[in-house]
Amino acid sequence: TAVELQRARELFATARRITALTGAGLSTDSGIPDFRGPRGVWTKDPNAQRLSDINSYVADADVRRQAWRSRAAHPAWDALPNAGHRAFVDLASSGRLRGVLTQNIDELHQRAGLDPDLVRELHGSMFGTVCLSCGGRGGMRETLDRVADGEADPHCLACGGMLKSATISFGQSLDEDVVRESQRAALDCDLFLTAGTSLTVFPAAGFADLAAKAGADLIICNAEPTPYDEQAAAVLRGPLTEVLPELVAVPQSMQQRS
Ligand code: NAD
Repeated sequence: TAVELQRARELFATARRITALTGAGLSTDSGIPDFRGPRGVWTKDPNAQRLSDINSYVADADVRRQAWRSRAAHPAWDALPNAGHRAFVDLASSGRLRGVLTQNIDELHQRAGLDPDLVRELHGSMFGTVCLSCGGRGGMRETLDRVADGEADPHCLACGGMLKSATISFGQSLDEDVVRESQRAALDCDLFLTAGTSLTVFPAAGFADLAAKAGADLIICNAEPTPYDEQAAAVLRGPLTEVLPELVAVPQSMQQRS
């Protein structure tokens, strides 16, 4: 509602340290479907979840071959940042953005021009690979070139181990440093904003709870209800490409005060 937006804008305008948690909903308007929204990948095909599970990936060469085939066709290769991503760049230029914790693997925050040091990729990036044996890192593009050249299930060139995209699948633990930095950013803010996340994937969703319990105002921007709506100071349901630029623009009444 207009009242809710007004309240959120005032909290935004007076906040001094803002931490955000972003999810797949931020990139749907860039042409990358989410998982659980009405047109989400899993809403349409519940079996697709199997591809995101580390146990089936490790155990089943068919799952790996299918994963490698689908990676080259991922919409993120051609996606461009949208007005929602750009709003975070504007917010950063006000010097008040403490960090963006993102569940997205599409690097669109960085491509929009956000300082990479402000971005915590909780679930990694689809543009890299990791060896499940030696931990060696590589580029996705080069590995997909090997797939195009006929390797259906490419392995690590250094040790022969199994390769995977540098993303966190279900059943895998998150990077400890990323989690620690995210916790710090969640605790060290007076406003915590969530954008385009169903807040159902842990530990990511827990950062909203952590920040709220530590006293931060919680603003939730998501098209559908989330489990944390009742804890929020404001809940905004509109499309993020509209809501986020409106939030970031400082209201005139507030400009005069400062
Ligand atoms: P999710 O699919 O669980 O939830 C996305 C939410 O965004 C939904 O509740 C939906 O209603 C909302 N939404 C969609 N478009 C919106 C819009 N334009 N404006 C406002 N709200 C909108 O996503 P999640 O919470 O991020 O969890 C999904 C998991 O899937 C994460 O682990 C993430 O790593 C992965 N994922 C990433 C991408 C990506 O990198 N772009 C895409 C799909 C899935």
